[in-house]
Amino acid sequence: MAAWETNVRKVIPYTPGEQPDCADIIKLNTNENPYPPSSAVERILREIPAEILRKYPDPTSGALVTALSEYYHMPEEQIFVGVGSDDVLAMSFLTFFNGKEPILFPDITYSFYDVWAELFRIPYECQPLDENFQIRTEDYLRPCGGIVIANPNAPTGIAKELTELERIVAGNPGVIVIIDEAYIDFGGESAVCLLPKYDNLLVVQTFSKSRSLAGMRIGYAFGNQKLIKYLNDAKYSFNSYTMNTLTIAVGVEAVRDEAYFQETVGKVVAAREWTKKELLRLGFTFPDSQSNFIFASHPKYPAKELFEGLKRQGIYVRYFAKPRIDNYLRISIGTDEEMKTLIAFLEKYVGENL
Ligand code: PMP
Repeated sequence: MAAWETNVRKVIPYTPGEQPDCADIIKLNTNENPYPPSSAVERILREIPAEILRKYPDPTSGALVTALSEYYHMPEEQIFVGVGSDDVLAMSFLTFFNGKEPILFPDITYSFYDVWAELFRIPYECQPLDENFQIRTEDYLRPCGGIVIANPNAPTGIAKELTELERIVAGNPGVIVIIDEAYIDFGGESAVCLLPKYDNLLVVQTFSKSRSLAGMRIGYAFGNQKLIKYLNDAKYSFNSYTMNTLTIAVGVEAVRDEAYFQETVGKVVAAREWTKKELLRLGFTFPDSQSNFIFASHPKYPAKELFEGLKRQGIYVRYFAKPRIDNYLRISIGTDEEMKTLIAFLEKYVGENL
């Protein structure tokens, strides 16, 4: 090791799902929306003159904040936006988790949380999900430095009751509780309605899933005015121009197209419910997902083999070689056609291997 390496900030990075560079695969591995973004997005991308890019973007992303404020009936001072919810969450970890007590999050959850904790030197303790992959409220009613809960949780898809989440927020008035609602538009109850009651709550959402804009990178957070001010102070101390001009304009159009949003979310939810029935028929078990993916396991066929078999057929799903979940596949919900192809393959696989 070179002498200078002693002082390097070393991190084991988060591993995103594969993005294979071929068109004819069925891509059910990164929880993207199978439908394109609103046509208003396409139109604005065609209309924006390149000349506009000569100037720096609006550092406050004002137009997007206003559009979100109108859509959610939330004061602008209570909205923070960032480059995907990953950016919003990273900034929130940096801003709010600055104490000595460990922050708490489940052992099985979005695998970026421990990466940010390591990166920012935030002490943390993982709380094991119960044997049914449920978050136990009691585990989060103890002294700590903060709490992060994905609701619905990933990769299980399980939504936690809002009354239970409220117990966690109310029971921890001295620290910030972050509820990561990346998948909330597909099911579960949003904690946004708790915001008037609790000044320690931050709710984070994204355009990546329900608004089909994973490639654009737009995330946002709602919280008490003071929280948002602290977040913005940290952001402006790091990079004033996180959101670029095109992204801001695209985000505005996407959030305004309510009809298209409802239509595509409805289609994904319907395909999820159909897929659940089919998977049950083929002998799979899974927690009851409220998200745009299903976390499925088969008692007879090891998940790793299924994962590889699917991949050979050009069907990409996600497999995590991690304790407790290494016999599960996380299957994102695609179009009706894609889900039919997946089920047809699994039906054959299960049949042939009987
Ligand atoms: N939270 C959860 C629970 C997720 O699964 C993801 C997607 N990987 C994110 C946040 C980040 O999504 P994005 O940065 O695309 O908004």
